[in-house]
Amino acid sequence: MKIIKKPSNIKKIIDNEKAEGKTIGFIPTMGNLHRGHISLVEKSIRECDYTIVSIFINPLQFSENEDFANYPVTTKEDIEKLSDAGVDLLFLPNTNTMSKYPFKEVKASSLTNALCGVSRPGHFKGVTTIVSKLFDITNPDYAFFGEKDYQQLLIIREMTKDLNLPIKIISGEIIREEIGLAMSSRNSYLSYKQRINASLIFKYMKQAKSRIEEGGEKIDSIYQLKKKLMFIPNADVDYVQFFDEKNLKKITKATEYGRIFIAVYIGKTRLIDNIRVRLK
Ligand code: AMP
Repeated sequence: MKIIKKPSNIKKIIDNEKAEGKTIGFIPTMGNLHRGHISLVEKSIRECDYTIVSIFINPLQFSENEDFANYPVTTKEDIEKLSDAGVDLLFLPNTNTMSKYPFKEVKASSLTNALCGVSRPGHFKGVTTIVSKLFDITNPDYAFFGEKDYQQLLIIREMTKDLNLPIKIISGEIIREEIGLAMSSRNSYLSYKQRINASLIFKYMKQAKSRIEEGGEKIDSIYQLKKKLMFIPNADVDYVQFFDEKNLKKITKATEYGRIFIAVYIGKTRLIDNIRVRLK
């Protein structure tokens, strides 16, 4: 696996690969890699000829009171995992390199007016600005994003369309720990007790999903879910919403799939999760 720190060096390598007719797959990450990330890597390796992963903790997507300074860094272990998985190139820029890379700020779409866009102002503008830089540097044919960050996935899809980029955005399902907790780098902040409490999020979400799919009243099911989440010890519920999964809008007419979206603090750790609900 090649490890490259400078954008100009990547461009040369990718041009050569593309000249040989190879397809390029790209997975942007912030490191501290777990099976959720690796599932996207494996998808790219299956579907593309050449796979690039980036590790960059993007300061633009953290607000002042968030965990940028403490975000877990495990570069040595990450390199081993990516190399074992069969990644061709790891892009490992530093903040200086990325901030110098010329690119305009990219506005996030109307999809930011809900969920984490409301709770974390400026977050998605930080994401789109960096992801568009990373797309420019790595010039992929396919880019892979997890449904764990479902709103981000839709926003990146929309950005790609708006900027007319010839990149196909592929989604990967949420990978969970055995106890049901969605894998996340932030899970490492949780104590043993908090992890057990956090696993209730998925349990309760699944119960609400079943209830709605069996014909239960939607608003009441979501209200009951919220109530159960509020009773998890040390939990502070940021939001619980049920939206049309295509546009993150309230479901007003018949649609095939809704999605329950949740953000909950367990102690100081903010966790997000979501689950698809079949409606017809
Ligand atoms: P991050 O390193 O948290 O920025 O995540 C990088 C990519 O991995 C994003 O596309 C995430 O949605 C995806 N990802 C993170 N956790 C999971 C998970 N548990 N299952 C699937 N994809 C994930």
